[in-house]
Amino acid sequence: AKNAGRNACRMFKRGMNELIEKRRELEVDLEIALQRGEFELYLQPRVEAESGIIIGYEALLRWFHPRRGMISPGNFIPVAEASGKIIRLGAWVLAEACKILDSIDGHISVNVSPLQFRHADFVTDLADLLKTTGADPHRIELEITESVLIEDDKRAVQILNDLKRMGFHIALDDFGTGYSSLSYLSRYPFDTIKIDRSFVNNLNLVDNAQIIVRTIIDLGSGLGMKVVAEGVETTEQALFLAHAGCDELQGYLLGKPRKLGEITREIDPAIAT
Ligand code: C2E
Ligand code: CA
Ligand code: CA
Ligand code: CA
Repeated sequence: AKNAGRNACRMFKRGMNELIEKRRELEVDLEIALQRGEFELYLQPRVEAESGIIIGYEALLRWFHPRRGMISPGNFIPVAEASGKIIRLGAWVLAEACKILDSIDGHISVNVSPLQFRHADFVTDLADLLKTTGADPHRIELEITESVLIEDDKRAVQILNDLKRMGFHIALDDFGTGYSSLSYLSRYPFDTIKIDRSFVNNLNLVDNAQIIVRTIIDLGSGLGMKVVAEGVETTEQALFLAHAGCDELQGYLLGKPRKLGEITREIDPAIAT
């Protein structure tokens, strides 16, 4: 039994070492990828629930690794965050989003990571970016998650107010998955809340989910915020959400994330030829 325990321990250590090694590899590759420009922003439409009209797009990061193929952000964002590389990566995302605005109608939503949000130069860098690109901040929505706000909130409030004064819209992403969502809604100046995919997913299965989603929509609307549902995959979900008063829908039913080129070809077929 003692031997077995020792073996399990050795296996565990080996597993851990492999994991650490993989992370370190990914970290090195991230640096190279930043230099070589292996990233691309995909765009997923956000659609007005009532009319079905596309209001804008969420920018979602994709990494095309020369050997490993496409790596999804769920796998590399945490590594970028832990290594601090998210600062440069996030700056690239914002600059790219500003460029994309010239080619699309409506707004673009950009995910901002906690470390990026807290970085001392975040607000001034954004001001510089607006100046150099001439991008209209009213067409840019910054999506942050609750995890951004947990600590000293005076600074968070100040950053958010600065961003709002500059003209940016602010969205609270993944609403309902954190612990303190309700108090945050009154304390921070959000324009939009995005109902997390997990609630939308459960709409068909769990009775309570409908009540929860309805309540979130009423709460957000009551506070004067725009309410967006993410992860909408079925017509039933879309109909329920529209009837419940949800403002905008996002999800595979309305459109998957795609390259900018594919979207502009649809907007203006003449460009394609
Ligand atoms: P998120 O911000 O919650 O983005 C929504 C995720 O749900 C995206 O995954 C999107 O492709 C996926 N999705 C959209 N509609 C559906 C649907 O109908 N069904 C299902 N099952 N999934 C759907 P993705 O692109 O893999 O991104 C994962 C997460 O990575 C994002 O979650 C976001 O937190 C992070 N992320 C992506 N791009 C960036 C970025 O530029 N910067 C930062 N900091 N984080 C990013
Ligand atoms: Ca998001
Ligand atoms: Ca989300
Ligand atoms: Ca999420």
